[in-house]
Amino acid sequence: MTYPPSDWMPSATELSGKRIMVTGAGDGIGRAASLAYANAGAEVLLLGRTEAKLDRVYDEILAAGGPTPAVVPCNLATVSYDSLCALAQELGSAFDHLDGLLHNASLLGDRKPLTQTSANTWHEVMQVNVNAAFMLTQVLMPLLEQASSASVVFTSSGVGRRGKAFWGAYATSKFATEGMMQVLSDELAGISAIRVNSLNPGPVNTAMRRTAYPAEPPETNPTPEALMPMWVYLMSDASREVHGQALDAQPR
Ligand code: NDP
Repeated sequence: MTYPPSDWMPSATELSGKRIMVTGAGDGIGRAASLAYANAGAEVLLLGRTEAKLDRVYDEILAAGGPTPAVVPCNLATVSYDSLCALAQELGSAFDHLDGLLHNASLLGDRKPLTQTSANTWHEVMQVNVNAAFMLTQVLMPLLEQASSASVVFTSSGVGRRGKAFWGAYATSKFATEGMMQVLSDELAGISAIRVNSLNPGPVNTAMRRTAYPAEPPETNPTPEALMPMWVYLMSDASREVHGQALDAQPR
């Protein structure tokens, strides 16, 4: 089974009435997903570490006529569990539910042999890519439970499904991401309306890809915008039955 079905395209109201949080919303895939969600009618909570970038996305959404988003400045490398609890409480007093959570923010870390990867880099990559996603999911679970059908999407990678030399902490963090998706989806199956999946974007022309492959002509790969139907699909009710899947946004 491939997702979305080959003839599926989002309508202009595909996500109307939905409220979706996107991490790493200021750039790359997170920015494109935020714009696509708003374009399909969703209210987007833009979480990221660089407020100026989030403000630009906020302005772009309003300029395109989308629902007013919210900016949530948050550095996932340094955030504590307590401050994420406080954030969830703040969101809980402003909103009665959350329909979607796209875990998108990630750090690439060093492209080096594992034996030469610094402990600091290792910890920082794990903190942003794994620990923060775990903590954020946990604190937002009560709000997700209040939605009629919420979707949690973890962003994976090809090297999170098959390890490769010199992908160090990043690849290991993406294996952990897949593991977190499998554990959570299994725990929620049959007892919750929340669905949980992972999505491997495949190669996409973003700052991260250009850093990982400096010699590759950037236009080799699609823009994030070109791939967005998949991201919208996973937040739309059209994917209600999709749960516990490790998905690919591009043919592998
Ligand atoms: P980018 O590096 O272009 O964007 C990552 C975003 O995450 C940025 O907005 C960045 O913020 C944000 N971010 C990074 N660290 C933190 C932090 N500590 N706190 C909050 N936000 C943070 O990456 P992509 O768009 O390429 O990647 C998006 C996702 O897709 C990632 O999970 C990545 O692993 C995955 N992926 C990407 C592929 C690709 O080819 N591009 C391939 C496979 C997977 P800021 O704007 O401030 O830098």
